[in-house]
Amino acid sequence: MAFNKERKPNELETLWKEKDVIDGQVSDAMVMIMRTNGCVWAKNSGGCTMCGYRTASLNGVTVDDLMAQVDQAMSRYKGEPFVKIYTSGSFLDENEIPLPVRERMFQEFSGCKRILFESRPEFVNADVLSTLPKTTTLALGLESHDPIIMERSIRKGFTPDDARIAGESAKDAGLMVRSYLLLKPLFLQEGEAIRSAVESARFADPFSDEISINPINVQKGTVIERVWKRGDYRPPWIWSLIEVFRQLSGTVNSRLMSSPSGGGSQRGVHNCGECDQRALEAVERFSFSQNPKDLDVKCECIRTWQSYISSETLLGTAADLDRGFGSDLTIRK
Ligand code: SF4
Ligand SMILES: [Zn+2]
Repeated sequence: MAFNKERKPNELETLWKEKDVIDGQVSDAMVMIMRTNGCVWAKNSGGCTMCGYRTASLNGVTVDDLMAQVDQAMSRYKGEPFVKIYTSGSFLDENEIPLPVRERMFQEFSGCKRILFESRPEFVNADVLSTLPKTTTLALGLESHDPIIMERSIRKGFTPDDARIAGESAKDAGLMVRSYLLLKPLFLQEGEAIRSAVESARFADPFSDEISINPINVQKGTVIERVWKRGDYRPPWIWSLIEVFRQLSGTVNSRLMSSPSGGGSQRGVHNCGECDQRALEAVERFSFSQNPKDLDVKCECIRTWQSYISSETLLGTAADLDRGFGSDLTIRK
């Protein structure tokens, strides 16, 4: 694929600095995305319905390539206390990050207060966990508490209980856990998506320190993109994300957060267009403060969102009502 040929295996995909939280305090963080041989589930089985990483994976990435990527990261590292390492797959899969690379990275970042990476649960076991720094936060793509949604809608290739067991093992090993949940997987109506995300967060809470709600962002080359192009799917409203936080606020122990990719675009979580920026800023403020007052946003389109949910339920469809049927069919209150 021409796209892959242009991407050098010895260069980081990207690196940036941002803010995150350590022990309740806003802290500097460095985020690096490494180029690896890719997610085993995407490579062997086609991957999850919303994941565009299949097109981003490379072949034949060597230890030397990965070490060169670490060199690049270190040349830009300014001692940020929080480092997040993403691989578009599983950091604990030795086909992606072989042990010598993993060990060097732990050494390089041994002064950090937090180091976060993602893994599918099949690479998490007590032996591996015992080798990880105590500053580790294990990020788990739990996505949903519902086994049927996991299998049919997301095609995740593991069950919610697999993720729960991995999360509990990480907690037993004294590590932190950040659980990622999907907002509005394929085939779910807007109202169902809100209920499901809330229930999923309650499922994740006992073995999580942080719960990150990820609204679907329609990525290129995915199953969900095909359905979206037909008009049979609409990414969630920002109001739905806010509603999930409102229902969960004060009822879970985990820190709630979301940093939506593609927010405000047609492919990402969006409202009417006029209020999107304000609503996304409210979500960001809440992610740091955990104060539900920070979610207060006003826009007339909240009534359209409420009508949208009623109309979907009445019509029994998860299709994009505004695109598929024309906005006149949406019941206005
Ligand atoms: S979402 Fe994660 S597990 Fe699923 S295909 Fe993408 S990288 Fe692999
Ligand atoms: Zn609006």
